[in-house]
Amino acid sequence: MKSESNNLYAAFRDRFPTDLGATFIQTEDDRVYSYRDLDKTSAKTAAAMESMGVKLGDRVAVQIEKSAEAVFLYLACIRMGAIYLPLNTAYSLSELKYFSKDAEPRLFVATPDTAATIERVLNDDQVLLTLDQNGRGSLAEKTEAATDTGLIAPVEANDVASIVYTSGTTGRPKGAMITHQNLAFHAQTLHKLWGFVPGEMLLHTLPIYHVHGLFIAINCVLWNGSGMRFLEKFDADAVLKFLPECGVMMGVPTFYSRLLANEAFDAEVCSKTRLFISGSAPLLANTFDAFQKRTGHTILERYGMTETGMITSNPLDGDRVAGSVGFALPGVEVRIADESGEVVDDGETGILELRGENVFQGYWRQPEKTKQEFRPDGYFISGDLAKKDKSGRVAIVGREKDLIITGGLNVYPKEVELEIDRIKGVDECAVIGLPHADFGEAVTAIVRRDARLPSIEETEITDALKARIAGFKQPKRVLFIDDLPRNAMGKVQKNLLREQFSELYD
Ligand code: AMP
Repeated sequence: MKSESNNLYAAFRDRFPTDLGATFIQTEDDRVYSYRDLDKTSAKTAAAMESMGVKLGDRVAVQIEKSAEAVFLYLACIRMGAIYLPLNTAYSLSELKYFSKDAEPRLFVATPDTAATIERVLNDDQVLLTLDQNGRGSLAEKTEAATDTGLIAPVEANDVASIVYTSGTTGRPKGAMITHQNLAFHAQTLHKLWGFVPGEMLLHTLPIYHVHGLFIAINCVLWNGSGMRFLEKFDADAVLKFLPECGVMMGVPTFYSRLLANEAFDAEVCSKTRLFISGSAPLLANTFDAFQKRTGHTILERYGMTETGMITSNPLDGDRVAGSVGFALPGVEVRIADESGEVVDDGETGILELRGENVFQGYWRQPEKTKQEFRPDGYFISGDLAKKDKSGRVAIVGREKDLIITGGLNVYPKEVELEIDRIKGVDECAVIGLPHADFGEAVTAIVRRDARLPSIEETEITDALKARIAGFKQPKRVLFIDDLPRNAMGKVQKNLLREQFSELYD
């Protein structure tokens, strides 16, 4: 049944601080936005979008810079029952074209400087509005003129609140449908699990187009009814400046290794912080140890993915172990199985499967793909290779799908390979992730030239890719090889390539 109380926004609002003048967001340059600002601006933004024809269940695609107003836009979509579709600001026009065709957003919100280009990929009945980093643009003007009707739309708990695109191994991104209930489950569970203290500030340095910065960080703060210091992006000096006022920091492993590279980062800077949380990519034991030694703090590593949100976490009280992602969240069942779905013994490596209220509804308009990723008893097949010991402690040992994680962002090799293969002078290629001190893994292309054509060079390939795929997906290096190694089944043996070039970035 549809009800207002199923709307995630209603749950947030119930937990707002009694004093609505309390800080929700404080920017780097000390602009302060209160809970009252949040409530009013999100309601007016919802009213403005409604007047532009956005209805319950319509998609609102958003590709803008991080700002308080961008957070209010997300919350406006939630409260009006529209589906929020965040897009990485690095996506290229051809990628946007795909998303816009696939998700058919009613409204597209872009930055004023990209709007004219984006307009080219929209059709006549799609509306385009703008919002810049300072909260200005055509959406802001419409919001200003709108009336605060206090709208919170009645929804079903399982109605989709957001679609977040994750790349597929086939190279075609898939839209993960995340519900109001999924998000409420996370906020409630993680708020409790990580022991949020009333009034404590969170240091927010993550991007907000990804589930980590958007649903994990922001929603925990909203559940706590407290505030966050909202930085445009990660910057070690800014972290040093603002950490002493924050109780919690969430980050990807790269953030922690970059902090350690800064000599001014020490125990004193961290003395007021209660908890450092890491996720989205494996935290190297070296980083974990060095952080402990330098600051006296033990980073809490947790593991999750777009489709499922958080799955496991190291404990708040109890041992946090390097190389382990901890235990299944309360209410989440985790098992390790082989490819046929048979559960393996404790300590054996297999594919992590899970079930619980955290698991998404499926891939947008891809029922077949969705079916393939679930077992008949409702377990979702994560595709991550993992081990679980007798006590239930989980370690991620690899990625079945060869996903590359560079600076905390995911790159599916296949998608890059398809683009490189289209370049004249290329015969075939393999894209792999190689160890890199800063990025964790660096996207690297191994190319076999087309012998019939003039010899193509590295810069010609990197130049050709610039307009076609987002910067973070572009190879840091392109190497040439006479033949790609293949197994008897004709599959390229990427493990051999990884071994051969393992020291490329040393
Ligand atoms: P995403 O959908 O972008 O959140 O990426 C999810 C993938 O990131 C997972 O399937 C894992 O392969 C990887 N991942 C996330 N957190 C961790 C972690 N703590 N350790 C190892 N891999 C992780």
